[in-house]
Amino acid sequence: MNKVENYIHGNNLAKSHSYQDIFDPSKGEPIGKVILSDKNDFDSLMKSSKEGFIKWQEFTPLKRSRVISKFKEKIEQNLDDIARIVCIEHGKTFEDAKGSVTRGLEVVEFACGIPHLLKGEFSQNVGTNIDSWSIRQPLGITAGITPFNFPAMVPMWMFPISIACGNSFILKPSEKDPSCSLKLAELFSDSGLPDGVFNVINGDKTIVDLLINSDDISSISFVGSTPIAKYIYQESSKTGKRVQALGGAKNHLVVMPDANINQAVDGIIGAAYGSAGERCMAISVAIAVGDIADKLVEEVSMKGQTLKVAPWTDEDSNMGPLISLDHKNKVENYISEGEKEGAKLVLDGRNYKIQGYEKGYFVGPTLFDNVDKNMTIYKEEIFGPVLSVLRVNNYEEALNLVNDHKLGNGASIYTSDGEVSRHFSTNCKIGMVGVNVPIPVPMAFHSFGGWKDSLFGGHAMHGMEGVNFYTKLKTVTSRWPKSIQDGPEFVIPTN
Ligand code: NAD
Repeated sequence: MNKVENYIHGNNLAKSHSYQDIFDPSKGEPIGKVILSDKNDFDSLMKSSKEGFIKWQEFTPLKRSRVISKFKEKIEQNLDDIARIVCIEHGKTFEDAKGSVTRGLEVVEFACGIPHLLKGEFSQNVGTNIDSWSIRQPLGITAGITPFNFPAMVPMWMFPISIACGNSFILKPSEKDPSCSLKLAELFSDSGLPDGVFNVINGDKTIVDLLINSDDISSISFVGSTPIAKYIYQESSKTGKRVQALGGAKNHLVVMPDANINQAVDGIIGAAYGSAGERCMAISVAIAVGDIADKLVEEVSMKGQTLKVAPWTDEDSNMGPLISLDHKNKVENYISEGEKEGAKLVLDGRNYKIQGYEKGYFVGPTLFDNVDKNMTIYKEEIFGPVLSVLRVNNYEEALNLVNDHKLGNGASIYTSDGEVSRHFSTNCKIGMVGVNVPIPVPMAFHSFGGWKDSLFGGHAMHGMEGVNFYTKLKTVTSRWPKSIQDGPEFVIPTN
């Protein structure tokens, strides 16, 4: 059986004897084992990352950019292979996996511009004969802990920018689909990256706790569920680290009475059920404003029924299985809870069986109508193909729902009224907003991050936020040589 271990200093290093099964979610069968690294692995990791950081300082930003450009080419050459690795362990469709690798690749492309991004600022004559400039220097050893749902894209939000900024980076991927990270590390090494600059350590809470408590690590980037994001933020902050911890989501899509209904329905179908709802930017709530509700529910229900739920090997599949049996049970329990709490179950995806894949973790498209804001299925993140429709009378009620929810990752509005859309973009308490766009994921040169309990620590990922997160600002003020002869000054210079 395939054993997935670590990538430390260019080698497949493993000291721990503890392993956990990796499953094929379509078949519900184990396909490999991943190492659960321990303190011995951690010690080798830290030794390597320290050496890697020192070696990497010999590379100017331009030389770093050349290594990253080669890495970009290697990803392009291996795009299908990387996507296949994602499909096998995660279960999402091939096109979806390829799309997610491409979004990660765009961050690599952004990182190629690092000489420009690190140029800094210069001001001549901030005072008479005094010049001032600001530079950004690397933090040192940085680390990232990532979730199962985007095993290529989410790590690529982090490590290309950190490494471009001159840091070494340690990646701790999800233990549910760990193989993709090892492939990316190999490709980066093959591109000329010195050993130790990018290490991958696999494991669970044990290794995460060693990372967040280490005094030798300068920053932690985390993406995952809200309770763990909060824990990572609080614990890492205790040791004075810089932390960005992105959590869960409950993204609302508001459909105004003047919306183009066909566009809104297509947007909802893709955003609610794509990737089986296991996206932090998935739409899990549709708010129908005014008399559009009946038509909206009818159309979403009709289209939802036509979706093909199948393993990734079926080219016609629209959505694959969930990641694990535990998660399938959790999602099905939420559906039962919604029924019990009185929501109207229009489409029921429980007990979904596919011939030949009876043990697979499939849940079909599920649709609830007449959901109330006090119901569990509305308050909590489900992270499956379950859409809740709430009916409201007007725009103000819709905006209040969006703003009162404790999670604030993404939200969208479908309308043909520019004034309403502008009001929504300005006044919603949400990090990423779409206007007639169902999944408003920012491009690599902008930044990704939510508000409220969807992000702890302030800094969003990639774009300039990423560069700022992975560097320390230094400002130099210089005056010479005439002033040196003038003797001491005892007041703040003002001219
Ligand atoms: P998770 O929180 O269970 O795990 C994320 C990472 O934390 C994994 O590497 C895991 O090994 C580690 N971890 C898990 N439990 C831990 C513990 N007790 N102590 C220390 N480390 C622990 O999340 P998941 O199930 O892998 O991913 C799904 C979640 O991620 C969803 O909530 C989703 O919304 C969220 N997510 C958020 C974003 C975003 O940008 N906000 C993006 C993708 C996913």
